[in-house]
Parts: sequence; structure tokens; C-alpha cells
Amino acid sequence: MSLNLSYASLKSLRAALDSKQVSSVELAEHFLARAEDALSLNAFLHIDRGLTLSQARAADARIAKGEAGALTGIPMAHKDIFVTRSWRSTAGSKMLADYVSPFDATVVEKLNHGAGMVCLGKLNCDEFAMGSSNENSAFGAVKNPWDTSRIPGGSSGGSAAAVAAGLTPAATGTDTGGSLRQPAAMCGISAIKPTYGRVSRYGMIAFASSLDQGGPMARGAEDCALLLDAMAGFDERDSTSLNNKQAATPILARFSEAYASNASTGAPLQGVRIGVPQEFFGEGLSADVRAAVEAAIGEFEKLGATRVEISLPRTRLSIPAYYVIAPAEASSNLSRFDGVRYGHRAKEYRDLKDMIERSRAEGFGAEPKRRILTGAWVLSHGYYDAYYLQAQRVRRLIAQDFQEAFKSCDFIMGPVAPTTAWKIGEKNNDPVAMYLEDIFTLGVSLAGLPGMSVPCGFGADKMPVGLQIIGNYFDEGRMLAAAHQYQQVTDWHARTPEAFR
Ligand code: GLN
Repeated sequence: MSLNLSYASLKSLRAALDSKQVSSVELAEHFLARAEDALSLNAFLHIDRGLTLSQARAADARIAKGEAGALTGIPMAHKDIFVTRSWRSTAGSKMLADYVSPFDATVVEKLNHGAGMVCLGKLNCDEFAMGSSNENSAFGAVKNPWDTSRIPGGSSGGSAAAVAAGLTPAATGTDTGGSLRQPAAMCGISAIKPTYGRVSRYGMIAFASSLDQGGPMARGAEDCALLLDAMAGFDERDSTSLNNKQAATPILARFSEAYASNASTGAPLQGVRIGVPQEFFGEGLSADVRAAVEAAIGEFEKLGATRVEISLPRTRLSIPAYYVIAPAEASSNLSRFDGVRYGHRAKEYRDLKDMIERSRAEGFGAEPKRRILTGAWVLSHGYYDAYYLQAQRVRRLIAQDFQEAFKSCDFIMGPVAPTTAWKIGEKNNDPVAMYLEDIFTLGVSLAGLPGMSVPCGFGADKMPVGLQIIGNYFDEGRMLAAAHQYQQVTDWHARTPEAFR
């Protein structure tokens, strides 16, 4: 059998399952063994062979009955922000170290029960998804499989590292200000953050509710299209889930239609206009990242696309706006972790107030505490107008800038992050330096737009570089199709870290 299971596309795993080359149980065993061999990456927080194998047996039965869908029997793993009835759900926090949810998140229900994918376990992440390096997990940092002295990006770092190391063919992640795109870029895999409201947030442990979106992480854009198609859809249990005509368009149908008529011309992206924002290529962008991203845009031009220079003038303001709004929402969302309703409870205390104080002091790590303090402060009487309201106004202007830009282009392209993955510990004591790494991803989140990351080369340090593709609302199908065209003529997404081949 010539198929390298560890790095196979979802389509080829489907073919292998359908032709009985491999069973779902065998696939699960294969990836569980790899995950157990790679525990030093610290990507997985919870593995339970029994649970995984029972899902795999159920998938094999479905396949035998001829009832398999595109994803049935294929292994995957969840960022530990999605609650699962069987595996623990920690959000990377000591607060929830032993928490087992009484229900499954909608995404879990759709992928595992609906589509029949097999869950391999739960993946490490920054505490409550707060971070850009995965060093904020209460369960220790995740290592980048390309160089284990480096961070994998965050906050979905466990997901990105697991896919990059071939420990799972696919994973879920969440993105509040870049946490699907940035770790994907830093680990050399593909990921898409959908339009806000497209994927249900029900059962996704909340960080900043007006920004949080779940999405898929996998090797290639085609895999992401299959996964997102299965994850997306209206959910009446999430009041921000979208129920309009555009949201109802199946992603896979759009993905397959787009550019199909041009496919044989050698210029499939003929007529596609790519906007290149000058603000994404200024000071702070490292030269090797710039070179890789420019080369990638050049490839899209060879595929028939035309390049348009655009401006997103308020890019700089996305950092202060986000780091007011996200903490404000976090301070409210995290109030439920009080040792009564949810979370760790201190062993010793004098009275109720003391119990809540001690429980929160012990349960939360430094970053959530920093966000709770910032959030409570910007929402407080006297500062609300000056900070929170002002940030909301800036948010609206940032969204308008994108709409202005989309008048002259179909997609916007640029870097995902200013640098490649840095060394573990390097920016740990400087939260502001860490926040600055988010400059190119935050605007998309504030505007609620879909954005993806596609591997496009390597830096001087041999670490992966990601190309960011930003689309207009509900354009995920076309974005993924354009990325897929790029991945037909390049092989960055197929490169794998030597130590994990
Ligand atoms: N790095 C950003 C933050 O720490 C984004 C995190 C995310 O998208 N979850 O808030």
C-alpha cells in the first residue's frame, strides 16, 4: 500500500476506507499510536482509546451498511474549547481541569455523530483561547513539530501541531483574533475562519462572544472545504447563528462550482482580482515572510488572477480596538467560573466571598487575569465611553474599510503574521510584543469576515510561512477553491516535518 496514512488527504482516506484497504478501526489505531509516540509535543490533553475505538467501530458498521458520507470513519481531534460529553473539556485552564460536559458542542455533534468522524481526543490550547503562542495553557506549552524549541502559534496550537506532525488528519480550532490562521501558518497547514455566525458557538467555551468562530484545520484547502461543509449551518441553540439565504448555501457546492469552467484553460483564476493592502507590507514585517507571501501572490497571478493595490487604513487600530473589546467580553464570560456554577473551588475559605476570590485566584492563569482586569476596567463607569464605546466605533470603521476594499477586489491577500514561529519563552514576559503579532489577523475578526491561512513557503529559520486569504462575507467556498487551485500548482501544504515522517 503506497498511501502514507499519516499525511493522506481526506479524499484519499475516504477512498482507502471505501475500497477496504483500511478500516476505520485501523486508521484510529494508526493515529492513536502516533499521538502516543509524540506525547513530548504536548499537543493532546486527553486521549481515551476505548472511546475512540468505539466511535471507529460504529463508523465501520456504517461503512459496511453502505451509509458512509464523505467523512465517515476518518479520524480527527477537537481543540479543548469544544465541550465533549465523554472526553474532559478543560479550555486549557486549571479552572476546568476535571470538567466533563453533560452535552456535546454542536460542532462535535455534527462532525462525530452526524458525519461519523472518529474523535482521537482533545487538543491543547492557550487558556480560554487567550494567546498567540500556546504558552498560556495551564497544562504546559505545545511544541512546534518543525522545531521543538519553538512555539506552534496560538491559541489553537495543539490542533496545528497535531495536524502538522501527522498525529491526526484534521482538527477543529477556534479563532477570536487569529487563532485558526496564525497557528496554521506557523505549523505549515491550512485553516479557515468562517464568516461570523456560520459555525455554531453552542458548546464552544466562550472567550469573546462577538468574535469567536470555530473552523477546520487540515493539510489542504480541499480538506478544509469538506470539514467546514460538515461543521457549518444554522443552530437555533446559538442566538448569533445565521439563518439567511447566503448562510444556507452549501460550502462544498460553491467550492466545486467556482473556477470549474476555467479549469482546463491553464488560467483557472482568470478574472479574479486580488487586493494587496499596503498596510500589510510595512514596517515590522520580516523580509523572509514578505518574500514568501509575494511569491505566493505571484503564483496566483500565474493562475490568471490580477493584482490590485488596496488600502486598509485602520489596520494599526485593530490592535487597541481588539484588546479592548475582547477583554471586555472575556471579563463577562469568565464571571461564571466562580467555584459554584463552574470551575475549580478553593479547598479552604472563610465565607462565600472569600471562596469565590480564592477559587478565581487559584483557577485562572496570568493571561485570563490580565484580560479580566482590563475588561472590567474598560467597562467601568467613567471609562466605558472613552475606551469601550470608542473601540466599538473603531470596529465599525475597520469593517467599513474592508467593504471599501472589496469594491475593487474579490479577495485580499497578505501575510498571516509578521514573523515565523519564535522560540518558546522569547516573548513570554512581554504581553504587548505578543499582541503585536496579531496585527494582520485581528481586523478580519473585528469585521466578522472569513479568513484563511495557506502554507506558502519557509523563512530563513526554515519555519513555515502562511499566506492569508480574506474574502467577503459568505465567500468561503470560493476562497477555498482559489486556495485549492494554488495548492494544485505548489506543494508547500504537502511538506512535512522530518522528525515526524
Ligand atoms: N492572540 C489573540 C488573543 O490572544 C487571538 C486569540 C484567539 O483568536 N483565540 O486574544
